[in-house]
Amino acid sequence: MRLILVGPPGAGKGTQAAKLIERLGVPHLSTGDMLREAVKQGTELGQQAQAHMSAGGLVPDDLVIPIVVQRIKQDDCGTGFILDGFPRTLPQAEALDQALQAAGVELDAVAVITVKDDLIVERITGRRMDPETNTIYHMTFNPPPEEVVPRLLHRQDDTEEACRSRLTKYHGET
Ligand code: AMP
Repeated sequence: MRLILVGPPGAGKGTQAAKLIERLGVPHLSTGDMLREAVKQGTELGQQAQAHMSAGGLVPDDLVIPIVVQRIKQDDCGTGFILDGFPRTLPQAEALDQALQAAGVELDAVAVITVKDDLIVERITGRRMDPETNTIYHMTFNPPPEEVVPRLLHRQDDTEEACRSRLTKYHGET
């Protein structure tokens, strides 16, 4: 199964992808996760991507496209993948088309998750991540157990300001 999940930040793409990979047995390819890892490792890509990400902007196509094109060529994507957060721009969609054509494979589905902007802001600003288990919590909708609260992380781009900027990008470009 080759599936793309499209939706605004905080729509639940990552949450749904985590459930789907268990059923489908294909890898979950999240460009957001890949970029955050590059930032954490301090790679050249991470250094170039960081400022765009923390301001709620998009990382330039020429940085993001090669990561995905290389990744979907790897053996574990032979039976499919779930793409989460890519493509986000027309050039990214075109590059994906070309890569799939070159590999002689087709997409099975694109699922679009729709959520109202105000609810997105509420979800995003209350979102916290446990760096030890990668579990995502929400301080109101899905409160964390007390003992993990001190280690929870609030993503730099999960402020209201960055969230509104990400929503503007989503509506304008994705
Ligand atoms: P996400 O975890 O999908 O919300 O992505 C977090 C951030 O990573 C985004 O706000 C962008 O700055 C960057 N990012 C992730 N995927 C892409 C993409 N396909 N194109 C450009 N920037 C991206």
